[in-house]
Amino acid sequence: MQRTSGVLRRMLSSLQSRSMDPYSPLEEVRRKGSDIDRYLYLKHLQREREPAFYSLLLHHAEEILPFVYTPTVGEACQRYHRLPLTPVGLHLRATDASFLTTLRAWPHQDVRVVVVTDGERVLGLGDLGAGGMGIVEGKILLYTAAAGLDPRACLPVMLDVGTNNEDLLADPLYKGLRQRRLVGAAYWAVVEKCMTSLKQWQPHTVVQFEDFANHHAFQLLEKYRGSHCCFNDDIQGTACITLAGLLSALRVTHSSLSDQRIMFYGAGEAGTGIGEMIAIALHSMHGLSIEEGRKHCIFLDSKGLVCASRQDLQEHKQPFAHDIPYQKTLLEAVLEFRPTALIGVSTRRGAFSAEVIEALSALNTRPIIFPLSNPTSKAECTFEEAMKSSGNRALFASGSPFPSIRGTDNRELYAAQANNAYIFPAIGLAAVLTRTSHISDDAFLTAAKHLSEMTQIPEAARGLLFPRFSSIQQVSAKLTAKVAQFMVEAGGGAVVPSELVGEKSPDWEAYVASTMYKAPPTSKL
Ligand code: NAP
Ligand code: MN
Repeated sequence: MQRTSGVLRRMLSSLQSRSMDPYSPLEEVRRKGSDIDRYLYLKHLQREREPAFYSLLLHHAEEILPFVYTPTVGEACQRYHRLPLTPVGLHLRATDASFLTTLRAWPHQDVRVVVVTDGERVLGLGDLGAGGMGIVEGKILLYTAAAGLDPRACLPVMLDVGTNNEDLLADPLYKGLRQRRLVGAAYWAVVEKCMTSLKQWQPHTVVQFEDFANHHAFQLLEKYRGSHCCFNDDIQGTACITLAGLLSALRVTHSSLSDQRIMFYGAGEAGTGIGEMIAIALHSMHGLSIEEGRKHCIFLDSKGLVCASRQDLQEHKQPFAHDIPYQKTLLEAVLEFRPTALIGVSTRRGAFSAEVIEALSALNTRPIIFPLSNPTSKAECTFEEAMKSSGNRALFASGSPFPSIRGTDNRELYAAQANNAYIFPAIGLAAVLTRTSHISDDAFLTAAKHLSEMTQIPEAARGLLFPRFSSIQQVSAKLTAKVAQFMVEAGGGAVVPSELVGEKSPDWEAYVASTMYKAPPTSKL
């Protein structure tokens, strides 16, 4: 009886959520034959019928986002120049005389958030040149879909400095600058022109760096984090969501971050960003020095273990080059250093082999396994592989979504998705609302701790290390409130919004909710 009523309830709610109008945009999306067709249709809708597009996005975020953001956006970026698409974002070319003039001609002048890429490392797909427009257009939608920022306050920017992708350079339909990428001083001069123009145009705009290659990304962040309100999502957003996932996993195992040995496969932007954030968390939460904190993180790159005896390490790896014996393979490193957690940020499909997972599972009752590489085809292991080789004991989070599976007792086991979308819109919106001049690492730490606390232990034990994505808007509002409050308390130029000035105990959450963009219901379209 109980079962029947469950089925009926699901049928009823599915009927209610389905628009009954066969000509509605939602039905149109559902009717399309492929995801890329859904992408094209939705991009068209965004240009031609903006209210209808944002209404769909806000009211059906979980269903629509996969077509306008990951995973579909990866394919769209790869095929960008051969698809019938008109860019929604702003294309700034290195050869343009003045970026400021272009910005001043943009139809919306009240821009609060800019997401900018140079398209050199799009997802795990490499240099896609001006095709990177797809990623910034997709990413910025989360500011509206998750954090309720008015779409007119959001600007995606493709900073075109050329491409080294030979296929694109040879493609007559390529829409970007047909030249090899600028390097050295010429590259940095264009970046400087972009950053100065943005600041001159809109002094309080938050700049999110997205999908820059790691040989620029760290330097870019260091160069501008003091003078601009900016952050890099690949480094800091990833670090934050991963730390949140780790903290949730540790609440399940009742253990402390200070007792963990975390092994990273991949030592790029994502990996070393996470390592640094873990060191900051160990410093702030457990009183370790940053150097001691880093020792809890052990890295492998494409040449094996990152350690002091290596002479070939790029700057961002050096803080993690501990005085430990070199190991060639991941399996050898697992056996030698006995990690409690394994984080994959290498783009190497299959790197977490059955032997590796079995070895980790022999060392830990609940091994923590986070294959974060995107898209799905690059994941170090699938959820099924992790569960099979760990006897369903793994605490798992991946970059791309995986379907749940049935455990031996027929209970559903979930794959958590370490989706940066839980983090960056809240960080960005908090910075916008408080007009902060600087986004500190502690702001990310605050977000990680609060996000982790939003997860219930029984659910986390079954794999839900993050709140359900269906509640993203409530989660973002709560997180934005916490981060905004932190920013004001920490100083750094952040101010209490005028609506809250003079209030004894300001209700940040209600305030954040009140600022959120409202889209018309889909039934009214
Ligand atoms: P990246 O800066 O290019 O770094 C990639 C790292 O992987 C480098 O250290 C590279 O080694 C290493 N690597 C490549 N092949 C390897 C191999 N065969 N064995 C061991 N290591 C290998 O890229 P990233 O920004 O860190 O991103 C990495 C992946 O993480 C991407 O797939 C991205 O989509 C994903 N990611 C996921 C999330 C998320 O889930 N929330 C967020 C951000 C990024 P070398 O240094 O020796 O070249
Ligand atoms: Mn990215």
